Amino acid sequence: MINVTKPYLPSFDEYMKLVKGIWDRNWLTNNGPLVNELELELKQYLDINHLLFVNNGTIAIQIALKALELGKGEVITTPFSYVATTSSILWEGFKPVFVDIDELTLNIDPAKIEAAITEDTVAILATHVFGNPCDIDTIQQIADKHNLKVIYDAAHCFGTQYKGKSVFHYGDMITTSFHSTKLFHTIEGGAIFTPDANLLKTAAYMRNFGHNGPENFAGIGINGKNSEFHAAMGLLNIKQADAILASRKAVADEYDNLLQHSRLLRKPIITPNSKFNYAYYVVIFESETQLLKVVDELNKNYVFPRRYFYPSLSELSYLKETQPTPIGNSISSRVLSLPVYYGMPKEEIMMISRLILRVLNN
Ligand SMILES: *Cc1c(COP(=O)(O)O)cnc(C)c1O
Repeated sequence: MINVTKPYLPSFDEYMKLVKGIWDRNWLTNNGPLVNELELELKQYLDINHLLFVNNGTIAIQIALKALELGKGEVITTPFSYVATTSSILWEGFKPVFVDIDELTLNIDPAKIEAAITEDTVAILATHVFGNPCDIDTIQQIADKHNLKVIYDAAHCFGTQYKGKSVFHYGDMITTSFHSTKLFHTIEGGAIFTPDANLLKTAAYMRNFGHNGPENFAGIGINGKNSEFHAAMGLLNIKQADAILASRKAVADEYDNLLQHSRLLRKPIITPNSKFNYAYYVVIFESETQLLKVVDELNKNYVFPRRYFYPSLSELSYLKETQPTPIGNSISSRVLSLPVYYGMPKEEIMMISRLILRVLNN
């Protein structure tokens, strides 16, 4: 069986060595030494000044929305992302306003943002879809003109660069996920980034119930802390980050070799001035019927790709009022994420590509 991905696992013995240290110290969570060490390693690896390690990528978005003190109002967002992007907006009491995506990059289309801005708009929450950066400069110009905050859900972006720097540098608040299915993971986990040291401080209080000392509270908070066990996984995995990125690229190159000559498939276009991390390998079919045929054939051969992202978030059943997003809806119905994982053998890529081409050319 080949699943859409396989979590990277470091050496069991090395993990156990770190676990032994946790046992010896009997310090399991609450800003322990491994959590601190991982934050330092991440700053170094990503060449970034500020970050907070948190317990998942969803709490990261929620804390980002909270820390910006936006009050109430509308948040402009994309219909083409994981459900956590929209659900976090709702969870924090804001109204999501969907702006359709660019057909080529699959990211929010900046040319359509201004028409969606109202007196109630407080922020733009965009996703760098599949690790491909948004049109960061144009979005920033619009935000500056209308006095809006920019938050990026950069859950897919470990290793992605824009203009020579980690994409985590760009925006007012940036969040990522270190979930097991992501390129770099800490089992469960995530991080918050911001170039603003004061905002980082606010978010750091929020991560720990608002505690400012054992008996004092700087403000309202939540539990966004992560544990020593999760940090231990991150400390081993970050040593392999370059190898993981290289392996993903090799898998993507192999798929490209085998699939790119088919005119019945296309891939997202990578944004200029960026270095892509090959977090996912997605293909867009001409129709949902074709996609379903391919999925059926792959499943029969014990290959389980994922319809990701599907459904379009503007079609979520619990949303009362949404804006039309025909491009996002259409792409959602036709996009498929093919299996990619560290060390994926060539034979599997060849087998999957052959099955896809056989259905398409039939
Ligand atoms: C994975 C993911 C999240 C959620 O991250 P968790 O760590 O699973 O909470 C949010 N947004 C996007 C785009 C994701 O892919």
